[in-house]
Amino acid sequence: MKTKVIEIHSIEEIDKIKEAAEGLKAGELVVFPTETVYGLGANGLDEDAIAGIFEAKGRPKDNPLILHIADQEQVLDLVKIIPPIGQDCMDMFWPGPLTLIMERSKIVPDSITGGLETVAIRMPSHSIAHAILKEAYIPVAAPSANTSGRPSPTRVEHVLEDMMGKVSIIVDGGITDVGIESTVLDITGEKPVILRPGGITKEDLEELLGIEVDTDQATIAAEEGLVPRSPGQKYKHYAPKAEATLFAGNLTNVAKEVNHRIAKNPSKKTAVLATTETMDMYQGMDLLINMGSREHLEEVAQNLFDCLRKCDEEGIEVIYVEGFEFQGLGVGIMNRLLKACGGKVVLGL
Ligand code: AMP
Ligand code: MG
Repeated sequence: MKTKVIEIHSIEEIDKIKEAAEGLKAGELVVFPTETVYGLGANGLDEDAIAGIFEAKGRPKDNPLILHIADQEQVLDLVKIIPPIGQDCMDMFWPGPLTLIMERSKIVPDSITGGLETVAIRMPSHSIAHAILKEAYIPVAAPSANTSGRPSPTRVEHVLEDMMGKVSIIVDGGITDVGIESTVLDITGEKPVILRPGGITKEDLEELLGIEVDTDQATIAAEEGLVPRSPGQKYKHYAPKAEATLFAGNLTNVAKEVNHRIAKNPSKKTAVLATTETMDMYQGMDLLINMGSREHLEEVAQNLFDCLRKCDEEGIEVIYVEGFEFQGLGVGIMNRLLKACGGKVVLGL
């Protein structure tokens, strides 16, 4: 397939926005930037187009997709009912990185929900994504535009690596802002439950909604370094080619342990993923990458997947990654890192 790359700098470039939207309406695969990561978009009501997503990504069929919309009105057709808390969530967090799980209506295909009776919906805030979705005015399924299992794309270069020749259009809109995927919130029960931590934190939700929010047992298990079970979360995710290990605890002890391991195994090409505060604590590695400052976890989230892909580019064989506290955005960051490391964690240092 011939892939056309369209650079869009602003929503004033109406012809380009229209071209991307027309592609979606015609059942083509169109990659576009969102505020979280780049999305691989297709008409979410068109079975053939949806099948194209699974093929381009190599994504397991039972991993459900999120429908992306530009207008609250569009939700009405896709769900049985909007629970009162759902309306609050939409009013307070949309557009933005919050995905809501509600009971699905009949028009939502099984291939979107992975056979579940619920559907995931989100309204992105990225201006280009919003303009394309508004112009197309169809629900657009848009998982991350990476080959399944690889780190999600936060820069157009990542998309070109994974999707060139597999999609009709790639919209280049620069670096994505949040850098990790949306928070997935199940609002079908009495209490909202976070199924996947992401750009919107538990603290944000509880503060603005004024109610308690639970975290899914599988997500908690993931936080403890165990393998998660919720849909889609069970698959290998975000994995660099190298063998990666996560180290958490006192940062001086982390550096000591990492330096010790590097010294013990000098023949392996090794990278350390550190933070602004700890960059000068490591020695002997082949590549030292700064994920960002511990004072600004947004920076770390934004850089995370790019750091993992950089290790691949440099032919790194072993990666040692610093961990973060399970608090605020740290929860979403640790969720991604634990998966990138395939559960290989050294805790309590
Ligand atoms: P992504 O791959 O980032 O597009 O995110 C899709 C993820 O959203 C899936 O892997 C699930 O974890 C979650 N998801 C989507 N639909 C549902 C649903 N109906 N119920 C529960 N989780 C869902
Ligand atoms: Mg993904």
